This record gives sequence, structure tokens and C-alpha cells, in this order.
Amino acid sequence: MASHSNVRDLHLSVHDRPQMVEHLKNEIFDLVVIGGGITGAGVARDAASRGMRVALIEDRDFAIGTSSRSSKLIHGGIRYLENYEFHLVFEALSERALLFEIAPTLVHPLRFVLPLYEGNRVGMFMMGLGMWAYDALSLFEAPEPHERLTANESVERLPLLQRNGLKGSYVYSDAYMDDDRLVLETLRSAVAMGAFAANRIRASDAVVTDGKVSAIICEDHVSGQKFNLRGKHFVSTVGPWTDKVAVDLLKKWKKVLRPSKGVHLTFNRSRFEVNDAIVMAADNEKRIVFGIPRHEMFIIGTTDTDYPGDPKDVSVTPEDVDYLLDVANQYFPGAGLTKADIIGSYAGVRPLVDDGAETESKTSREHLIYNDDRNMTFVAGGKYTTYRRMALDAVESTLDYFDLNDRVRFARPQTEKPLNPLASFDGLSNARRSVDRFQLGTGLSRDVIETLVERHAGETPDLFVFDPGPAFSHEERMWTMEAKHAIRETMCDSLVDFYARRVPLVLSRADHGLPFLGRISRAFQEELKWTDQERANQAKQLQEYLNREFAWKKSET
Ligand SMILES: Cc1cc2nc3c(=O)[nH]c(=O)nc-3n(C[C@H](O)[C@H](O)[C@H](O)COP(=O)(O)OP(=O)(O)OC[C@H]3O[C@@H](n4cnc5c(N)ncnc54)[C@H](O)[C@@H]3O)c2cc1C
Repeated sequence: MASHSNVRDLHLSVHDRPQMVEHLKNEIFDLVVIGGGITGAGVARDAASRGMRVALIEDRDFAIGTSSRSSKLIHGGIRYLENYEFHLVFEALSERALLFEIAPTLVHPLRFVLPLYEGNRVGMFMMGLGMWAYDALSLFEAPEPHERLTANESVERLPLLQRNGLKGSYVYSDAYMDDDRLVLETLRSAVAMGAFAANRIRASDAVVTDGKVSAIICEDHVSGQKFNLRGKHFVSTVGPWTDKVAVDLLKKWKKVLRPSKGVHLTFNRSRFEVNDAIVMAADNEKRIVFGIPRHEMFIIGTTDTDYPGDPKDVSVTPEDVDYLLDVANQYFPGAGLTKADIIGSYAGVRPLVDDGAETESKTSREHLIYNDDRNMTFVAGGKYTTYRRMALDAVESTLDYFDLNDRVRFARPQTEKPLNPLASFDGLSNARRSVDRFQLGTGLSRDVIETLVERHAGETPDLFVFDPGPAFSHEERMWTMEAKHAIRETMCDSLVDFYARRVPLVLSRADHGLPFLGRISRAFQEELKWTDQERANQAKQLQEYLNREFAWKKSET
């Protein structure tokens, strides 16, 4: 690994982490960001793009919180139209349009079918008006305008759909995305713009001088050391941990969140035979549950129940599974889904802002930006879809804490450019045109090359450097390249983090990618100089992680 004389050469790499931490210890930053989910990554990128000196710390792995446990949709939120939250829908649809442009390898258009049955609260006519409003709020620039289908056309489109009482359906556009990778690419972009970021660092307390926070007391889980991270201003972006971190740091704090749990199940895509997502009504039409085909899997979710516990402990229960299976079987009776069909599951906690609503699902998805007098800004709530906008508003609001010179210097964000210049539209188109050349050059199968190109676009050739060569199977070669890239470009230092948040192995394959464990763990060992003991420990931790995540399966037997 090259040594870096210039700060701008630092990557979000495990190898560069020690240098990142040295900077964190020794400098005074303009902005210190606590929490490495999409909100923190967005704030860091926005602030760095304005020329601020930025530091970001994450307690565990980037995106380990809510930001890897969402429905993985970039959507305007058609449901919010019912609550007349037009502003929220308009903002989300504008962001959706921008994300197609700045993250084309991570955000993909998807059609959604919304079937309507006899006795539904909203009829075809009213839903048609809603669809028209949805198209209008996207300024008629959705990937495709909405369509109206008869009952027969609906069943042609979704062959296993419940026919009884079906009146017809509407089809509209939204998008699916890779939530964990969008965090990582946003952070990489922030680092490329000069931000400093490190994982495995917990904000445990604050130094308060004359009633103002002047430093965060950090615990580095890698070195076991404590240090002070100094800044002119501090931003908390810890999502569902907001109330907890506020008490740890500021002591006096009035709760602002009403966290709610959401569960998803994943299935083999072939079980559903569809290319479109489906919008299903649940709980007497009070809620929506999505069925989402994406990459290799089909996701069904989500639930929505109050969750007062520690977000770290959130888990899927047999009741959550029954609830989602019931909804899916009502809509797809022909699929005859059972628990045995479920490949994976995941649970997350929504950092909803408590607005006094009657029920969890009525609680608004609007975000909170709160500038505390003690020199700390809290950003929470909102939706993934609008993270860039929320980050922009948050950083804008911190400018009041700076002097006039700085306010002028930091006035202009530049977040409308591609997150990764090599993975822009042009980068992706060029890489797609190079598939034959890549295949010839590497001897890798077309499937593998196409997968790499769709994930990494113009960065694909950088991964070929890590190819262990034809002594290994094509898939083993691909996972080796992905592993080494994850270590050097996303600060991934453990097998659990790799399997769970860098590649879709855990959720999309019934074997969770364990057949590749030998090769992948060897790649980590080579790159991070693990001992055999460390390699064995890491493999054990991965198995324990899988047992924990899918513990509900055990309670079934
Ligand atoms: C089930 C579900 C489905 C959803 N679906 C969608 C969807 O499809 N589309 C959409 O737009 N939105 C969706 N959302 C909302 C969206 O996922 C969240 O709004 C977003 O991910 C919140 O990100 P965050 O960065 O604020 O929080 P998080 O991702 O939770 O990040 C907070 C981070 O702070 C870190 N942290 C905590 N304490 C400390 C500390 N003391 N020191 C340092 N770091 C700390 C945590 O480890 C964590 O990584 C969904 C949410 C849920 C739960």
C-alpha cells in the first residue's frame, strides 16, 4: 500500500485508518459528525463540498444501523398523498430524479403495481387522481408515466396475483437502491473531498466549556484508547440512538423520538415470477407492505411497531414473520409461501420524530433539525430518499455557529455531482461497452464481468488488480476482488461487515455465501495479515451473526 504524503490521497481504507485517526486526534475541525449512517455520510459530504474541514466517527461499521435495514426504495411515498403531505412527496421525487443521475449504479428505476379490490377504501377513480398527482409532483419526469390495467391485464403482469374481487390496478414508477452501498459511496465521496472518517469509534461523552461543547470524548475500539475530537461545531446523526447519545453527551435532554421497528423477509426471486414491485394493503388498509424484486432476490416488508428498546438489539420475531407471510399469501395465493421459502430476514428501527400521532404508521416521516445552544445540531427522522436535501438543510443551519468569513466561505454546497466520477452515467455506459474487452483480458465469465460492471462501472478495472487468477472458480475470483476492494475502499475489516453490508450474500442466497468463506477469508487474511487464529475467529463470528439474525427460525422448530 502506498504511503500518503498528501492528505487528499487518503482513502476510506483499513490501511489508511491509523492516519485518519491521527488527524482526528490532532486537528480542530470545522464540523464533527457523529454517526456513519446515510444522514452522517450526507452531512459530511455536503460540508466537505463547501470546503469545511470535516471529521466523522462511527461506533461500529458504516451503515450498520437503520441505513442497511430499509425497504431499499428511493420513493416519493405515494402513501403520504393521503395525509396531504404534498411537500414531502415533491421533495422526495425531486431527490429521486437527482439520485438517478448521481448514483446510477446504486439507484434503479422500478415499476410498482398497485392492485385494487372490491370493497377497498379507495376506488379506481380516486386512485387515478392520486396517480396523476404523483406524476405531476415529479414534474412529469418519472422514468415512465402511470398506467391503468384491467383485472385481466393485472394478472397477465403478475401471474400469481389474487384474482377474486380484483377490479384492476395502477402501475407507477419509483426506484430501488442499495442502501448500505449508497452510504459507503457517499462517504467515499466526502473523503475524496477532504473529509476524515473512521469506523469503530464511539462518542461516549463531551467536553463542555462555558456551556458549549468543545470536544467529543471518543473511544477507539481498535486501539482501546480514548481521545478528544475537537471541533468548532458538532452534529449528531445517530438516527434511532439520538436520545441516548444526547443524554450521554449533554446530560440534560428531552426525548424527541418515537422509534418504530420494521421487518423484511427475503425470498428467491424465482418464487414470484415478476419483474415489477407490488403494493399490498395490510391492517384493514391502514398500512402498505411492498413486494420488491431486486437484483437476485424478492423482498417483502415491512412491519411497523413501536420499539422502545436499544436499536442494537432489534430482531425479527416469529410474529413478524407470520404477519408478513399472511399479507403476501393474501395477494399471491398461487405462490403458496411458507416459512421454508424464506432465505433471509432483517429488522431495523425507524428514527421517527415524535409528533404525537395516534399510531406508529401515522407518525410523519418529516425530519428534525435541532440546533442546540450547547453547540450541537441534531439531525434525525426523515427518509433515506431525501438524505441529501436533509443534509443540505442541516449544514446550512450550522452556519450560524461560524463567523462571517466562514459563512461566506462555506456558503456553496456541491452535492449535485456524481458520487463517484467513475460510476457516473458515462462511466457506466463506457464500462458496459467494454464487457467483451474485460472478458478477453481476464478470462472471467460474462456473468461475473457484467455483475462487476453493474456494481462498479468505470471502477471495474481497479478490481481486476486483485484477481487471484484462473486457479480459482469464476465466483471465487469475483468475491476475492470484492473483498480486497471493500478493505481498501470502504474500511471493511471484518467478515461479518463484508458479508452483511458490502455484498448481497447474506440476504439473497439460501447458503448465505458460506461456500465462498474459505476463499473470502483467505483474501482478508492476505490483505490484513491475519493469523490463522484470527481468520478462524472471524469465520466463527460470521456464523454467530447468522445464527443471531435468523434466530426466529430456531424457535420455529
Ligand atoms: C424498516 C425500515 C424501512 C425503511 N425504508 C425506507 C425506504 O425504503 N426508503 C426511504 O427513503 N427510507 C426508508 N426508511 C428510513 C431510512 O432508512 C432512515 O431514515 C435512514 O436510514 C436513517 O439513517 P440515519 O443515518 O439517520 O440512521 P442510522 O443509519 O441508524 O445511522 C446512525 C449511526 O450512528 C451510529 N452511532 C450510534 N451511536 C453512536 C455513538 N455514540 N458514536 C458514534 N456513532 C454512533 C450507529 O452505529 C449508526 O451507524 C426505512 C426505515 C426502516 C426502519
